[in-house]
Amino acid sequence: MEAPIFTYMTKYRYRKVVLCQNADVGLKAVIAIHSTTLGPATGGTRMWTYQSEADAIVDAMRLARGMTYKYAAAGVDLGGGKCVIIGDPKTEKTEGLLRALGRFIQSLGGEFQTGEDVGTTLDDMEVMAAECDYIVTLPEHAGGAGPIAPATAFGVLQAMKVCCREVYGSESLKGRRVSLQGLGAVGAEMLKLLAEEGAQITVADIDEVKVGWARRDVGARAVGPDALYAEPCDIFCPCALGGILNDEVIPALRCRIICGSANNQLWEERHGDELHRRGILYAPDYIANAGGTIFDTDRLRKGGFNRERAMRNVARIGETMERLIARSQREAIPTSVAADRLAEERLAMKERVRLI
Ligand code: NAD
Repeated sequence: MEAPIFTYMTKYRYRKVVLCQNADVGLKAVIAIHSTTLGPATGGTRMWTYQSEADAIVDAMRLARGMTYKYAAAGVDLGGGKCVIIGDPKTEKTEGLLRALGRFIQSLGGEFQTGEDVGTTLDDMEVMAAECDYIVTLPEHAGGAGPIAPATAFGVLQAMKVCCREVYGSESLKGRRVSLQGLGAVGAEMLKLLAEEGAQITVADIDEVKVGWARRDVGARAVGPDALYAEPCDIFCPCALGGILNDEVIPALRCRIICGSANNQLWEERHGDELHRRGILYAPDYIANAGGTIFDTDRLRKGGFNRERAMRNVARIGETMERLIARSQREAIPTSVAADRLAEERLAMKERVRLI
C-alpha cells in the first residue's frame, strides 16, 4: 500500500474495511466495501495464500474498487465490494470456515453480498448460503444463475468484434490471428467461441493438459507461456493473470488489439496511456469482462433471474465498447481513461439523484 490505510481509504473513498477472524475454524478474512452509491457492495470471495496480511487487505481493497467501476460502467445498480480469505483453498477450506464467513457477511445486514471467485466454488457458496442471505452466485438448483464463465467469454467476444470493426473495418474474426493466454474457466469458453468464429488461435497455459486439449479439440497452435506475448497476432486475448500489461510486456507485444477477460490487466494506470500512444486498441478489462457479473446479478432485478434479459444485457458490452472508442477519439484519451470517466459519471449522477 502506497500510504497508511486511512489515507488510502480517504484518497479512493472507501466506506469500510472489515477484518473477520474466528480462530476456532481458522478464519482470517477481509471484506472491503468501496462504494454503495449505486446499490449494495457486491463482489466475489477469493481464497488465496497471501504473502502477508497487508497484501490480503490491499488485494481486497483494489478488487472492491474495481467492482465499483465494473458495475457503474455496465449500468448495473450495485456497489463495489470484495472479500478475501487468507489461506490455501486446497488444504485449508472447511465447512466451518465457510459457515463462519457466511455469518460475518450476514452480520453486515446486506451492505455486502458475494459469490464465487478464485479459490472458491459454487458449492462453497451454497455452504455459506446456509448461514447468510446475501450470496448472489449460486448453482441453478439453489436458485442461482449457475456457471458464469460462458457469459464472461460471450461478453469478451462482443467487445472483440467491435475492436476488430474499428481496426480492420470488419467485425468478422474469420482468419484473424488471436493469441489466447489461459485456458481456464473463461479461456476454455473463449477457445470454443473463437474456433466457431474461424479465428486462427495460438494458446499458452502453464497447464500442459489444457494445452493438449486445445491442440486436439480445435487444432490450436501452442507456444510457451512467456513466448506468447511476442507472438505476431491481430488480437491478444489475456484470460489468465492480472498486471501483465507492464513496462516489460508492452514493448514486446505485436498485436493491434488487446481484449480479454483477465482482471486488472494494466499494471498501473499509465500503461493504458502507453498502449494508446503505441496505437494498440485496448478493451478495458472491466468493460470486456463484465458479462459474467451482468448475467449473475440479473437475479437481483425485479422478477428474479431471466436468462434472456441477462444475455441481452451481456451483449450490450459491444455497444459500451463502441461508445468508449468514440469517446477516446473525440477527447483524445486512452480507452482506459474513457472507461473510468464513464463509470465516474454514472456514480456522480447517482449522487446527484440522491440529493434531490
Ligand atoms: P481460472 O483459474 O479458471 O483459469 C486461469 C488459467 O490461467 C488456468 O488455466 C491457469 O493454468 C492459466 N495460467 C496461469 N498462469 C498462466 C501463465 N503465466 N500463462 C498462461 N496461462 C496461465 O480463471 P478464470 O475464471 O478462467 O478467469 C481468468 C481471468 O479472468 C482471471 O483474471 C479472472 O479474474 C478473470 N475473470 C473471470 C471471470 C469468470 O467468469 N470466471 C469473470 C471476470 C473476470
